[in-house]
Amino acid sequence: MVDRSDIPSPIWAPPVRAAAPRDLCTDCGISRTSDPKQCGKACQFIKPDYPSLEARVHGRVRDAAKPDEIFFGPFRRMVRASLRQPRDGAQWTGIATRIAERLLETGAVDAVLTMAPDPQDRWKPMPVVVTSADGMSQCRGMRMGYAPLLALLEPARARGFKRLAVIGIPCQVYALRSLEAKLGFERLYVVGTPCSDNTTTASFHTFLDLLSDDPDTITYLEFRADYHVELRFSDGRVQEIPFLQLPISKLPPDFFPMTCRTCVDYTNVLADITIGYMAGRGEQWLLVRNERGEELLDLLGDEVRTATLDSAGNRAGPVKGFLKNVELAAGGLPLRSMPNWLRPIVGWLMPKIGPRGLEFARAR
Ligand SMILES: Cc1cc2nc3c(=O)[nH]c(=O)nc-3n(C[C@H](O)[C@H](O)[C@H](O)COP(=O)(O)OP(=O)(O)OC[C@H]3O[C@@H](n4cnc5c(N)ncnc54)[C@H](O)[C@@H]3O)c2cc1C
Ligand code: SF4
Ligand code: SF4
Repeated sequence: MVDRSDIPSPIWAPPVRAAAPRDLCTDCGISRTSDPKQCGKACQFIKPDYPSLEARVHGRVRDAAKPDEIFFGPFRRMVRASLRQPRDGAQWTGIATRIAERLLETGAVDAVLTMAPDPQDRWKPMPVVVTSADGMSQCRGMRMGYAPLLALLEPARARGFKRLAVIGIPCQVYALRSLEAKLGFERLYVVGTPCSDNTTTASFHTFLDLLSDDPDTITYLEFRADYHVELRFSDGRVQEIPFLQLPISKLPPDFFPMTCRTCVDYTNVLADITIGYMAGRGEQWLLVRNERGEELLDLLGDEVRTATLDSAGNRAGPVKGFLKNVELAAGGLPLRSMPNWLRPIVGWLMPKIGPRGLEFARAR
């Protein structure tokens, strides 16, 4: 029986234990559970075993004969998509949070584990248990950084929540899948987002400070697939900055933590459905990975419009060397050494000659 006696609806943020000290760690929350030693089995940084987990979660490993599965992991279908009615506050059109709303509305799950903005800092993710559909609107949008999402599994289970959905980034989903069998939930839906260019929320504020004289008014930031960063401000202003004109050279060398520089799972290969944008050419990009992923997408019915993905440009062409350096430099952010006079020219050129759509996602 679910015990809701003192759970504030629709969003509950139970207290969590302190983190156990770990070297390579994005504080997914496992070190804060009653058995922190589980990190040894669960962590993607300690002893990752993607083939076994892919086989268990999707019924098969990625197919080496399908080039896109080598890049993106196992999937049944990959589409570009958008909600016909984009949701306010969403990072793109709000497919991720709308799926979670539908799960709660239809009673398919008792609760959803995800991130809301910390009340003191809108850019800081705060793990929450969402217990009714009207709570999901508060979780829309992207926060930079990581927070102990999986520390909420035990409090959720203790309250009798047996059917759960989790929205998470790849390092959280890896740990969740490693421990799934012993967690004892009757049903678990996993909605994943891709993740790259992540850093701590504190470091991210350094970046915002360099982007604007009034960084507290930045309400939205996205690294778009057309090589621009889009910023939105609280007064409604929108600014687009070509990647190459970002103040990267002013960032400290440890801006991207070692965890994120060594992370191999950009597309969240163990999720039931991955919801991103990188191959969507201005729309969202969905990878439906298994039957449960199909079930999740079906929940949206006519609310979602889907189309075939396309590709343009060639990552092996004239930009190959550039991209190689981009990848090496900072998980997608531009080179420190490019001369200032060249940056606007290459910035203008990149969306025209660089890889687009699927080809951009593969390059990443
Ligand atoms: C740090 C980070 C980096 C990303 N990098 C890429 C990328 O390189 N390429 C790409 O295609 N997509 C990336 N994404 C995913 C992308 O930003 C969108 O979240 C995704 O496209 C879903 O959009 P939406 O409108 O459907 O999401 P919404 O409906 O707005 O929902 C977003 C969901 O993400 C959750 N969330 C927000 N911040 C965090 C966080 N820090 N940690 C865990 N969960 C969070 C929210 O709680 C919410 O449930 C990244 C996401 C994050 C959090
Ligand atoms: S990322 Fe998670 S599983 Fe890995 S060491 Fe940190 S808390 Fe443990
Ligand atoms: S880049 Fe990888 S390690 Fe870093 S937060 Fe994202 S999923 Fe985790």
